Amino acid sequence: MYTNSIEMLEVSPRDGLQNEPEQVPTATKLALIERAIAAGSRRIEVTSFVNPKAVPQMADADDVCAGLPDRDDVTYIGLVMNMRGAERAIATGRINQLGAVCVATDTFAHKNQRQTSDGSVDMAKQIIALAKQSGLTAQATIAASFGCPFEGEVAEDRVVEMAASLAQAGPVEIALADTIGVGNPAQVASLVAKVRKIIDPLPVRLHFHNTRGTGLANVWAAIGAGASTIDASIGGLGGCPFAPGAAGNVATEDVAYMLERAGVETSLDLDALIQTNRWFADAMNKDLPAMVGKAGGFPRVAEDKPQDEREVA
Ligand code: ZN
Repeated sequence: MYTNSIEMLEVSPRDGLQNEPEQVPTATKLALIERAIAAGSRRIEVTSFVNPKAVPQMADADDVCAGLPDRDDVTYIGLVMNMRGAERAIATGRINQLGAVCVATDTFAHKNQRQTSDGSVDMAKQIIALAKQSGLTAQATIAASFGCPFEGEVAEDRVVEMAASLAQAGPVEIALADTIGVGNPAQVASLVAKVRKIIDPLPVRLHFHNTRGTGLANVWAAIGAGASTIDASIGGLGGCPFAPGAAGNVATEDVAYMLERAGVETSLDLDALIQTNRWFADAMNKDLPAMVGKAGGFPRVAEDKPQDEREVA
């Protein structure tokens, strides 16, 4: 059961950059956001409101928000871990949607946000309630839905139970995050179907890291199982300071290429993404993990050239 279109959520300014060791200038983050919008992104995770000592890369959250383009048609998301972060995000006046995160296991919840797993669900529900009281919307993400760096296997029932509980608070959707990139397509299809059933009519969003090369396969499996939204990061950067071995998010341009070729529409312009990839690689002064950024899109064959003048390799 494959849909005709899917929503893409751009996470490069936050998840893509949060683990970069060198401070990325605010102006570069804003240029990235502007380029993402120009390439068709309409939902962007722009920053997180967390302790700058824990995540120094996000210390400029307020400045990023102050510089966001004035766009009624773009939803800006700020990730928050607690009420203080939620209040900071709301106070900027520029964030449209709060991103609340809870964690499927106690050990990871403790390392990520000094809570139990249940405590993280309660906190996410409070954040969602505060967002709604303040005239914002909220999304909720269940981290480590497909495996935990400390506890290993995560029971499907646990994730389903958390999703059902979160749904009561009224987020716009619930996301399953493969924070450490251990999921496989069969597992993704199974869990997405179960969560979808329990939170219906709320949509399911998926967040994959390509740590073990299963990212694109997991995206495809998720869409087949009825996911509505896919998180991705231009260039495929990313990582989690609290998850050992975590690698980049699935790359926006790689996902966009796969979906475009497969006949699943996104709002994204692949050429613009590829150009942004090249700009971003220059700005970061490093090679980015995304593959389509390097290879380019599907080969264009000039219709008006005679066959023997076409390049062959
Ligand atoms: Zn992530």
